[in-house]
Amino acid sequence: MDIVILSGKGGTGKTTVSTNLSQVMDYAYIDCDVEEPNGYIFLKPDHTNTHEVCLLNPEFTDACTFCGKCVEACEYNAIVSMLDRMMLFEDLCHGCGACKLACPVDAIREIERPIGLVKTSDDFGMGLLNLKEPMGGPIISKLKSITKDYKNRILDAPPGVSCSVVKACEDADFAVLVTEPTQFGLHDLRKAVDLVRTLKIPFGVVINRYDGPSFMDEYLLDDKIECLGRIPFSKEAAVMYSEGKMLIEDEKLHGTFLEIARAVQRRLS
Ligand code: SF4
Ligand code: SF4
Repeated sequence: MDIVILSGKGGTGKTTVSTNLSQVMDYAYIDCDVEEPNGYIFLKPDHTNTHEVCLLNPEFTDACTFCGKCVEACEYNAIVSMLDRMMLFEDLCHGCGACKLACPVDAIREIERPIGLVKTSDDFGMGLLNLKEPMGGPIISKLKSITKDYKNRILDAPPGVSCSVVKACEDADFAVLVTEPTQFGLHDLRKAVDLVRTLKIPFGVVINRYDGPSFMDEYLLDDKIECLGRIPFSKEAAVMYSEGKMLIEDEKLHGTFLEIARAVQRRLS
């Protein structure tokens, strides 16, 4: 069973919900926010195994006749044909292999280019994209593949609604959308709702930093979206977060997360 946790924007408390929910539900926590993973700060896993993640990039050999067929085949415009040489823009290359297939004289060989790491333990996983690398998708795919045999997973998606978020959402059984009761929060929640509806993933919403009924509750009611739980606004929670503590260490907040877990379980069943 895979539950993906996402939010239309950063800073809403997505990782807080992901880490705490993984503990009360006894699910493995998988940090797919590969540009800025921070779940490990709260869960403090030890004995992690490290796996390197590489992309296969084309390299052009002397057999090249500069016919340009590989340029046409590349959907990402990663190859440019000069008069007497070929040029690859590594940042644009998705490692799909289409150029190699298109080459009529077998003049392309593939070389591995490291783009990041995946770290795992029994109930934990995280991806880490190398600095200056633009594509987190392959790291997320590898992370999900390495941890695919974990019975139940909480997938902490990257913020926003980018390709990487779609990759994290793929094949998820349920989505928890985390938001906060601000106009920015509502604006970005709508984008996240559009995404999970497009992907046909059943979902519910958790309102973080809740400080009483507002336009957010009205929106959920009007759009017939279930509110799975409301995490109250509290200075104590902010202090615990800044100290790298789990909110479920607080008895009252533990109860709040248990209620959210029950609401999710009800939807899953
Ligand atoms: S591997 Fe795919 S993305 Fe990369 S250059 Fe070849 S066709 Fe383009
Ligand atoms: S398809 Fe092959 S021969 Fe043609 S330009 Fe590309 S690498 Fe060179």
